[in-house]
Amino acid sequence: MAEFLVAFFLFYLWNGMGITIGYHRLLSHRAFKCSKAYEYFWVAGGYMTYQGSPIWWSAIHRAHHRYSDTALDPHSPRFGIAHALYGWLMEGKYPQHIDPNLQCKDLVDDPIYKLLECGGRPPMASLLNLVINIVFRCTLWAVFGWQIALASLLASLFVFNVPQMLNVLCHMPKLGYKNFANNKDDSVNVWWVAVLACGEGWHNNHHKFPGSAQSGLRKFEFDLSWETIRLSEKLGLVTDVHLPDSIESKLGRRKGALLRLERIRVIRQKRSVA
Ligand SMILES: [Zn+2]
Ligand SMILES: [Zn+2]
Repeated sequence: MAEFLVAFFLFYLWNGMGITIGYHRLLSHRAFKCSKAYEYFWVAGGYMTYQGSPIWWSAIHRAHHRYSDTALDPHSPRFGIAHALYGWLMEGKYPQHIDPNLQCKDLVDDPIYKLLECGGRPPMASLLNLVINIVFRCTLWAVFGWQIALASLLASLFVFNVPQMLNVLCHMPKLGYKNFANNKDDSVNVWWVAVLACGEGWHNNHHKFPGSAQSGLRKFEFDLSWETIRLSEKLGLVTDVHLPDSIESKLGRRKGALLRLERIRVIRQKRSVA
């Protein structure tokens, strides 16, 4: 039993941060630079959660940021919770306004991502994903036994549901709080989603600084994915890490000034409401 639990925990971290570090912060937002080996390690973890091919995921996610909570957002709960949760996955094709050849130019030439994309046909890509997942679990079973294979399967099924849930819950203002009230979208920070999603639930912060490798910004906003990226940087595995401060200074503003200003505004707004 202990072996099963340890394996489940380790696969949960690999799958969970495969999405947050690999698919999200690295491929979709280019929040840091790293070797292909480091990139593929995390992207493989994300791929094993049935979330679709890396190009598909990044194209959809970039559109989510571009059109947040408008009619062109692929999964905004403003237009129906069931659709935002799983319904949009069933459409089986890219929405008309999303073309990975235009919006993911940096990914479409990678030979592995190209192969996993199956020529822009999401149903075929999902089928390939399923086959690779089955082969992977059978290999685990043959080499390490059924308990390890089952732990991996359950961890991946659990992690599959986390980003789906995040897409909905972290865009429902009643369920969380905002550090940045001036965001035009409905994004909020939800602490328990951040726990389940390895630090990705600080979604209002993320919409404010989408290019940042760090999403948890306040002292209590623990961000496991950021801590992992920070450790990786110390080990020399990751470079050019983007942070809110460096993004602000690139915009020619004083370090962190806008961040502090926004917080002061939020506090003032709360006081005036009270
Ligand atoms: Zn969002
Ligand atoms: Zn994002």
